[in-house]
Amino acid sequence: MSPGTSGLAVLMGDPVGHSLSPTIHNAAAQALGIDLTYAACRVEPDALANATRGLWALGAVGANVTIPHKQTVLSLATSASATARALGAANTLVRRAEGWHADNTDVEGFLAPLGPYRQQLKGGSAVVFGAGGAARAVVYGLKTVGVSYVTVVARRTGQAEQVLADLDVDGEAHPFDDVRHRVTEAGIVVNATPVGMRLDETPWPDASVFRGNQIVYDLLYRPAETRLMRDARSQGATAIGGLPMLVAQAGASFQQWTGRDFPFEVAHQAALDILAP
Ligand code: NAP
Repeated sequence: MSPGTSGLAVLMGDPVGHSLSPTIHNAAAQALGIDLTYAACRVEPDALANATRGLWALGAVGANVTIPHKQTVLSLATSASATARALGAANTLVRRAEGWHADNTDVEGFLAPLGPYRQQLKGGSAVVFGAGGAARAVVYGLKTVGVSYVTVVARRTGQAEQVLADLDVDGEAHPFDDVRHRVTEAGIVVNATPVGMRLDETPWPDASVFRGNQIVYDLLYRPAETRLMRDARSQGATAIGGLPMLVAQAGASFQQWTGRDFPFEVAHQAALDILAP
């Protein structure tokens, strides 16, 4: 950021109304004493190109992009990271001398809470519920830590097959029924669907399949503790919720914009304060 100017970063998406990103980034900037303001902006699909050019003209340090812009924004960037290119989607723009650089920090965010478990996951299998944008980041992340077989469970199995093919991952696409044995044997089970936002909902109602020495990771962060996580814990499995991922992907973007270490604890607490009932 140039002296005498205010730093600006925005989230562009549609909708963006319930986003926690402004809370997370503004708390981090305040804790570090950085003059950076982060705002959530609703940008309709046909306005994305103009909005991205306008941000450049305003001198913004960067942006996050979310649904429905994650694929389109790649074509508006001058360069892209290997992760963004592999996924065909970006969630971050970073200002560089030659133009916007696109990155996808969802993968780094997803992997952040798995740090202590990486060794145990290597060579094992995984089950991922859902085949949308988040599932893509998850499947790619699992590949990078050496998970050797991924079952993608989806209502539309064609979409699940596409995820595996696009990311060149060994595995299979499956509908929700008849996949019990895969869930039981998996080293990690990930929920990348919105099922679980209501307290009694779960993408996998049979808790008896879970076991100790298994990780059950729900990308949802509202509620902080989903039924899937409770069911997993009741069988001795390790349950991880979506908030650490949300904060870690924000941190990875923030570090690229500002060059500063991200104050994870402060940002995490600020998000928890907003989520508290
Ligand atoms: P998305 O692209 O819309 O994909 C959603 C996936 O879930 C699709 O495969 C969809 O299948 C499936 N699905 C939706 N409703 C379902 C149902 N009732 N039963 C079975 N499958 C269902 O969304 P996304 O961006 O991947 O996000 C998925 C979830 O992850 C969201 O809840 C989001 O909040 C969460 N997320 C969290 C983080 C984080 O940082 N913690 C980051 C990204 C996403 P169909 O195609 O058949 O509808």
